[in-house]
Amino acid sequence: MIFPDANMLAINDKRFVPFIAAEAIQTRIQELADQINQEYADRKPLIVVVLNGAFIFAADLMKNLTIPCEVTFIRVASYTATESTGQLRQILGLSETITGRDLIVIEDIVDTGLTICEVCDQLRSQQPASIAIATLLFKPTALKKSIDLHYVGFEIENRFVLGYGLDYDGIGRNTKDIMVLEE
Ligand code: 5GP
Ligand code: MG
Ligand code: MG
Repeated sequence: MIFPDANMLAINDKRFVPFIAAEAIQTRIQELADQINQEYADRKPLIVVVLNGAFIFAADLMKNLTIPCEVTFIRVASYTATESTGQLRQILGLSETITGRDLIVIEDIVDTGLTICEVCDQLRSQQPASIAIATLLFKPTALKKSIDLHYVGFEIENRFVLGYGLDYDGIGRNTKDIMVLEE
């Protein structure tokens, strides 16, 4: 892996270039947090972070929440390199009871929507009071499921992105900007 300069990231044979700048991400996250602070003013939501990709987004979002809230983590994986397989390979389950709780599920990106639908189906089977989805990124043209996304950071075109938590084959999560695969 090489980072020749701030304007390009090369991983194996792939080149990634800046797509969404760190400052724009932070500004948008503050807006989403403001909205959540208002809408959950009289509730104590349980934030369910979908690992691995959402960990940085979840941390920055939570730092801007001013309401009482709890956090927990689940782990899923459905991607091989740059294609969604549509099959959840693993889910590291929740240890706490979610029955009757107001859940806010935090995702890095909704692509086909298969992952978030499967996650929500599994959560719903334990009868939470409500489920809202917060995703940093959304690719509307890749969507294969009908799904209600309550908080969306950025709608993006159907291109492969990395950085700010998102990886390419495990690499690249540690950039402040979101980068896109060069065409
Ligand atoms: P879906 O099930 O909606 O097709 O895919 C959801 C998961 O695939 C996301 O949570 C994310 O981990 C991964 N994913 C989808 N699109 C991208 C992308 O453009 N870049 C990266 N790095 N991961 C993606
Ligand atoms: Mg994800
Ligand atoms: Mg991934």
